[in-house]
Amino acid sequence: MQIVPIVSRGYDSNVYVIIAGKVAVIDTGLSASRLEQRLRSVVAPERVDYVINTHAHIDHCGGNALFPNAKTLVHELDARAMSEGSFYGTASLFSTKLCARYHRVLREGDVIDLNGARLEVLHTPGHTPGSVCLYLAREAALFSGDTLFAGGSFGRADLGGNMQQLKQSLRRLASLEIEALYPGHMEVVRGREARESARLAWEIAEEYY
Ligand SMILES: [Zn+2]
Repeated sequence: MQIVPIVSRGYDSNVYVIIAGKVAVIDTGLSASRLEQRLRSVVAPERVDYVINTHAHIDHCGGNALFPNAKTLVHELDARAMSEGSFYGTASLFSTKLCARYHRVLREGDVIDLNGARLEVLHTPGHTPGSVCLYLAREAALFSGDTLFAGGSFGRADLGGNMQQLKQSLRRLASLEIEALYPGHMEVVRGREARESARLAWEIAEEYY
């Protein structure tokens, strides 16, 4: 199993390619054309079996259309915002009407089996109602979307989210074993920095919100 991070600049989300018996892409950035360039030399879009969106914001699902053979998965509580567009999910944020289709909805506890990598779905609402993190238990690797960032920062709750839920989600992540943190924006961290990010974020959220 191989994890290839494509760390973003600007508004694009980070994109993560997980290559095992099957290939998954976690989040797709702002647009297919932008992603096509960034993905080049990592994997051919036709080879991707699953696209998993951590949530419905357009900077995470705008490139979904790049993958002709992939099943697109998103949590059931963000599915409608993603496929129909919503005030917080699409248009108002980036002046675009783009919506992304999906094939299957995710729920807490689902496992996406890539034949050699098992991605567990953790429903972590707060940034949006249907935000999820994906967890590789064997590697203690967490793909945290906009719920948690490196260094103890976390996503906004005022773009269709809920701060009380976000606090609960951060509390949950603080009790999880995390050896590598792959967030939706900014850098990837490992080891102690990864372990401490969730605990710090939870403490900051409890103190200030
Ligand atoms: Zn977001």
